[in-house]
Amino acid sequence: MSWSHSEMLRERLADERGPVFVPGDRRVCLLYPSPYRAGMSSLGYQWIHGLLAQAGFAVERAFLPDDLDAFRKSRRPLCTYETETPVSHFPVIGVSLAYELELVGLIHCLELSGIPALRKDRGEQDPLVLLGGPLTFSNPLPSAPFVDAMLLGEAEETVVPAVTAAFEGDREDFLDEVQRLPGGLVPERAERLEQQADLPQIARSSDLLLPARSRILTPHAELSDMFLVEGERGCHRQCGFCVMRRSTNGGMRLVTPQRLLDLIPPEARRVGLVGAAISDHPQLPALLQALVDRGLGIGISSLRADRVSLKPEIARLLREGGYKTLTVASDAASQRLRRTISKGTVERHLVACAELAREHRYKVLKVYMMLGLPDERPEDIDELIAFTKQLAAIHPVALGVAPFVPKFNTPMSELGFAGIKPVERSLKHLQKGLRGKAEVRATSARFAWIEAALAQGGASAGLALLQGVQAGGSFADLKRALAPLNSTSRLHRAA
Ligand code: SF4
Repeated sequence: MSWSHSEMLRERLADERGPVFVPGDRRVCLLYPSPYRAGMSSLGYQWIHGLLAQAGFAVERAFLPDDLDAFRKSRRPLCTYETETPVSHFPVIGVSLAYELELVGLIHCLELSGIPALRKDRGEQDPLVLLGGPLTFSNPLPSAPFVDAMLLGEAEETVVPAVTAAFEGDREDFLDEVQRLPGGLVPERAERLEQQADLPQIARSSDLLLPARSRILTPHAELSDMFLVEGERGCHRQCGFCVMRRSTNGGMRLVTPQRLLDLIPPEARRVGLVGAAISDHPQLPALLQALVDRGLGIGISSLRADRVSLKPEIARLLREGGYKTLTVASDAASQRLRRTISKGTVERHLVACAELAREHRYKVLKVYMMLGLPDERPEDIDELIAFTKQLAAIHPVALGVAPFVPKFNTPMSELGFAGIKPVERSLKHLQKGLRGKAEVRATSARFAWIEAALAQGGASAGLALLQGVQAGGSFADLKRALAPLNSTSRLHRAA
């Protein structure tokens, strides 16, 4: 390792608080294909790390380097944080993928480790690669050519048996065990991996194993020095675009406030409450009050505007816990579109949130929004402009805008991506209408096209992505590689 990179790893380790790393014979590398800041803010990644460590594995962490080009120029192999061992020296690598574009990060990490990206090019000396993570709830198919095995869905009851099998037998024994587990998928043994129907059902863990929680606190994460804990899992609502809707693994599963409070380690100064529908937790105000009474800072993963308007003390208590931006989702440009996607939020809920943001002196009200939903028309954008101005007259507003990307395991899976130009047209329309009135922070329509191609694609999309990455990895390289696929022909919605 170069001195400066090595030094940075050690500094980060020195700044971490949590259980001490215990070396051992059964060494596992847990790889996060985005930088440390993001990986250490991932509750799922931290949770799996803890489960494996408690089961007696010596778990070491590796991440996509912060500065990929500089790291590549150093010609050093990707190494773990704990012992600076090259990732390629481990018998097993566990990978967590959160969303489609992180597959590019996985390809880079394998390449930086000197491990052939494609499973078929690897030999006996190469590690077994086991994949899990949030992306497995929708479509992990494009990652199939890169991994030996996958665990789909909730992994509390599957990850330890799978990793144990990697140490107790040969490769075939390991694959047998994964195939036997709920949500287990062994790509090389599957007949076809191109469509949603080719995926097994995702695993569901026992409620007794909840809640997931982080073990390591660090000031260098996006959620800096925050103890993350799952206040609930899943959602009881049914937004048409969302993978976490109530049909997924039985809907919402609650954790009691007392259990959550009991789990907070003494060194924690800030607590992040995580859950797809955490603001729907019926005891959330009591929990927030208890956290405030203990003098703890609070973060929260998501808020429903209707819930905040119904229980305004949520906004007050979060502010007392140091929360600075009141963030809610409206998801569609107009009331008509919100109805079509089964989003329960209406204008008066958002107006109430703006009033609460003003009353409690939040910096800004942030509203998440999708553009490019099916049947979106210019008059929907006009409605959004007029309504945002109404909100901004109450309190400063920032719109967080992302293109709609249809996902497997949702009723809107087949409805197609609007296309780059239509999304960019809607965005320009919105920005022009709101200039000087509200901030608009938008994610790229071009990379949403790549995301959509991967969200709708199979193993062949993963192979095409690899070609695009190897050709340079720019948007044009990736699009050129993915465009000829069959899956992209059904990507574009008919105008
Ligand atoms: S978008 Fe939010 S409220 Fe709607 S189903 Fe998903 S998690 Fe639930």
